[in-house]
Amino acid sequence: MLNLMGQPHRRLNLLTREWVLVSPHRTQRPWQGQVEEPTREKQPRYDPDCYLCPGNKRAGGHVNPKYANTFVFDNDYAALLPDSSDEEFDEAGLLIAQGERGICRVICFSPRHDLTISRMDFPDIRRVVDVWVEQYLELGSLPFINAVQIFENRGAMMGASNPHPHCQIWANQHIPNEHVKELSAQAEYFKAHQVSLLSDYLALELKRQERIVSENPHFVALIPFWAVWPFETLIISRRHVTGLYQLNGEERGGLADILKQVTTRYDNLFKSPFPYTMGFHQRPTDGQEHGECHLHAHFYPPLLRSATVRKFMVGYELLASPQRDITAEQAAQRLREVSGEHYLDLLTES
Ligand SMILES: [Zn+2]
Ligand SMILES: [Zn+2]
Repeated sequence: MLNLMGQPHRRLNLLTREWVLVSPHRTQRPWQGQVEEPTREKQPRYDPDCYLCPGNKRAGGHVNPKYANTFVFDNDYAALLPDSSDEEFDEAGLLIAQGERGICRVICFSPRHDLTISRMDFPDIRRVVDVWVEQYLELGSLPFINAVQIFENRGAMMGASNPHPHCQIWANQHIPNEHVKELSAQAEYFKAHQVSLLSDYLALELKRQERIVSENPHFVALIPFWAVWPFETLIISRRHVTGLYQLNGEERGGLADILKQVTTRYDNLFKSPFPYTMGFHQRPTDGQEHGECHLHAHFYPPLLRSATVRKFMVGYELLASPQRDITAEQAAQRLREVSGEHYLDLLTES
């Protein structure tokens, strides 16, 4: 019988239908006995050179307002443009391209340069959730926008150019690759079972209690069975909704709470600001109902065993398949075991 804790095997990602190779026999629990020196963030509350801080200058002569909570603006270096050509290009069926129209925006979460979601107050994170909903609805209502991707890159390791707490929204004409894969798997399941794939998956995870990281009445954070990144998490809404805009007030609060819980545990893991890419997958805005789509967020963090030792996707992973040693179950246990109180807050008190 296959031993998932001790024998090499591969696991299927239900959402993308791709496989990840798992090698649990190589794990030597490298964290045992390891003591982390806490990293104390040195960011100032206001940075005169930051292009996201209130009142500061940005590219093209723009000046940020002296905003008090959140601030949204069109990206000064947008990857997509609203009025570019959407013509198709095809030469002999071999050189194929499509014009892509879109809008790229930046959302500052807070006027404070030194904060992160993990250290923001609950009402301020809750306000960011409302802004995500407003932006999704506003951008999604434009006739040429069929997909809205909200994402946050945090930390220099993830290529974030600025520590000021912010995220991006890329809204565009064609439904992107990852959305297409996940929607296809979810649609097939929904058609066969009349229930969303993630509803059934979440129910099974809650029954087994092996990969849960934290939960509240509205959301559950877990390490997916098929996780590729060492501490990858999936946040799933308990109620089957297709997008953030369908969350009621209490559920939006539940989302703010679970985001704070997950990011706090991440920071506490190596007592250091934890880099990641985070983003939501929600219903395309192409006019279809997409009842199969179940709102969720992915966190993809690169760190493996310390604040500096990261996982690389190279070699076999680039050429064949992603692979991991530490199992999803071990990763979930580690995140459950760290404190739910941010280490910096605990340091300040002592
Ligand atoms: Zn700033
Ligand atoms: Zn997804």
